[in-house]
Amino acid sequence: MPYEELSRLLVAGGVNRVHALPLFRWLQGEAERDFFGPVERWLAARGVPKTNVERVTETPSGDGWTSKFLLRLADGAEVETVLMGYPGRFTACLSTQVGCAMGCVFCATGQMGFSRHLTAGEIVAQAHHVAAEVKARHGEKLRNVVMMGMGEPLHNYDPTMQALETLTDPRGLSISPARVTISTVGHVPGILKLARNPKKYSLAVSLHGATDEERGKLIPMNRKWPLSELMAACREYSEIKGQEVFIAWTLISGVNDDEKQARRLAALLSGMSVHINLIPLNPTEGYGEQAPESQKVEAFRKILRESGLIVTVRQKRGIDVGAGCGQLATTKRERQPSVA
Ligand code: SF4
Repeated sequence: MPYEELSRLLVAGGVNRVHALPLFRWLQGEAERDFFGPVERWLAARGVPKTNVERVTETPSGDGWTSKFLLRLADGAEVETVLMGYPGRFTACLSTQVGCAMGCVFCATGQMGFSRHLTAGEIVAQAHHVAAEVKARHGEKLRNVVMMGMGEPLHNYDPTMQALETLTDPRGLSISPARVTISTVGHVPGILKLARNPKKYSLAVSLHGATDEERGKLIPMNRKWPLSELMAACREYSEIKGQEVFIAWTLISGVNDDEKQARRLAALLSGMSVHINLIPLNPTEGYGEQAPESQKVEAFRKILRESGLIVTVRQKRGIDVGAGCGQLATTKRERQPSVA
């Protein structure tokens, strides 16, 4: 619950407003566990449900930098949340839905189908879970949040924004909005709404195809929001926010990794304020294609660079434990290598 809302609730319940700040801080992870009982009862009596996540397993990657947490929600549903470590910075990759309705063919979450949206509290609770680990293991603060876990965040717009309000509140985890990235597969109404949100979050749009025909084979939602509408929404976002848009392109061998496609992509993005992230495909059980060889990745990047575009190839993190982009899914097989 955002601070202002909590403050209003307390005042309406006859509690002095001065208690809002300590209570908010306590609820943001600084509370002793036995404090929760009376507070929970007081809030429950006013229709505010308890939100908690319980760790089922942790799966650390071989390189020690990434850990994937399988978290159980109050109704028994499960989501995956990832801690990604880089020298000097730690990032939480949060889920916004149980499963996903977008059905991208290469994505393990899409292959699960959609179960339900997460509440704002369930999204915030994931960040606190990761922040506590970062503090305990490294003595550091969590500084970056990416909404790139399970689900399409803009399909669950209001709870996602409410969660980010809380996470960026200086009285709580105090994540800078500039260090928050919201990833979408091209939910056009959500992008247009986000453009009008006063907070300057970064926007990452997954493209993966530069024509409707090619993109539609990978991302079924392209039929609903075709490239012309998506590109117009990205331009509007850039203009209103004065920010570049990050473009994610998953490179799939023999599908979207040849020179012709690189040139089409360059033409599509010409004149736009963008930064392209190339992501060699991460393997999933339900999709048989492969990542291209590194020379092919380099050739693709070269064409985009020569067209004047800014391009990076995303560092792989946690691929061995199914914690990379497009790999999150709460399957039984993935729960087995647990250290929890
Ligand atoms: S890539 Fe994102 S939007 Fe597409 S199915 Fe996976 S989680 Fe959903």
